[in-house]
Amino acid sequence: MNRSEDRVQKTEDRGVVAAARHSFSKSPAKPPYFLPSVLCPLSSGLRGKLTHAEPMSRHTSWRAGGVAARFYQPADLDDLRVFLCSLPLDEPLYAVGLGSNLLVRDGGIRGTVVLLHGALKELCLQDGGLIYAQAGVPGAKLARFAALHGRSGAEFFAGIPGTLGGMLAMNAGCYGGETWQHAVKVQVMTRSGELIERTPQEYEIGYRSVVKNQDRGSRSEDCGEQAGFSQSAEELFVGAWLAFERGDGEIARKKIKELLAKRIASQPLNFPNAGSVFRNPPGDYAARLIEQCALKGKCIGGAQVSDKHANFIVNTGRATAGDIESLISLVRETVANQTGVLLHPEVKIIGEYQKHE
Ligand SMILES: Cc1cc2nc3c(=O)[nH]c(=O)nc-3n(C[C@H](O)[C@H](O)[C@H](O)COP(=O)(O)OP(=O)(O)OC[C@H]3O[C@@H](n4cnc5c(N)ncnc54)[C@H](O)[C@@H]3O)c2cc1C
Repeated sequence: MNRSEDRVQKTEDRGVVAAARHSFSKSPAKPPYFLPSVLCPLSSGLRGKLTHAEPMSRHTSWRAGGVAARFYQPADLDDLRVFLCSLPLDEPLYAVGLGSNLLVRDGGIRGTVVLLHGALKELCLQDGGLIYAQAGVPGAKLARFAALHGRSGAEFFAGIPGTLGGMLAMNAGCYGGETWQHAVKVQVMTRSGELIERTPQEYEIGYRSVVKNQDRGSRSEDCGEQAGFSQSAEELFVGAWLAFERGDGEIARKKIKELLAKRIASQPLNFPNAGSVFRNPPGDYAARLIEQCALKGKCIGGAQVSDKHANFIVNTGRATAGDIESLISLVRETVANQTGVLLHPEVKIIGEYQKHE
């Protein structure tokens, strides 16, 4: 591939991520209010970027939502360790990658967000042929890197606008591929800064679901996981060793282009969105059920069930997280009432409801 082809390829690969980031400048400006402080001073030895009352609309592909009380983008893995060691153990903690599967409620996050996109970026081919990638590496970069090194099977990552950390947390996948099919080992960091290598056997891995074996009992329907509500993290994914078959890099690059073209044709990428809102129920498609209930085009405030793909909710310009969550509930209820199928959100919902004084 010559330089200009490579440029075209990279531009196309970035298409989906760019679309998810689209209209950041158009997103509604949120007043920078502060949550009651849960914060205490942190270690002075930090090298990353620390902010307070950070608008999460800047870090989520829906371009909506409240602020994070404390927000940290580490300089590297060691800096993340120093940060986590200085954080009170009872402070709620959330990892965020590209925020492409995340709804932050308008009342914001009373706790800490660690942004790993743009932070943990190491990506290399190791002697045994495994690819080691850190959690902040975007799917498109991983797919291109694998193709460049003559590996096949990583093409599907190109269309997922997330980071490896988010893709491990979600077991993200498409077109027959899933993240954990390729994970030989993962690297996690605990709340107390300990770096641990784990095998896939230590997790219960399913369709868009990954739960550490010993956490299974505590994550039931009762705590809202099935309704998309996410809990504070005990461990963060910080890297993984991935295996792909040897193949033809040129064929892999062609496949990446084809898969991206397919997405551009079928998804409403010109509006901020978070991909598929609901998981597909067994043997059916959420989009088919939503369409059958005549919900395409349905709006609440600035949130709309996409006309192009019924399982996408788009921000038409001024949606609040409240608009989006209300529309998610309306779709769930309508589909349950009309078809008897209860859809489970794939997107993760965190934060507090906005208080109306
Ligand atoms: C246009 C579009 C198309 C999409 N298509 C697909 C698709 O085809 N297939 C698919 O599976 N998904 C798809 N998605 C959804 C999304 O891209 C994936 O779920 C992706 O894996 C999210 O990665 P992220 O880095 O953005 O995670 P985020 O959205 O930032 O976070 C998602 C969840 O993972 C957790 N998390 C993030 N990073 C870490 C970490 N390092 N350690 C522990 N937990 C972490 C977060 O706390 C949160 O609960 C699409 C989204 C968009 C906008």
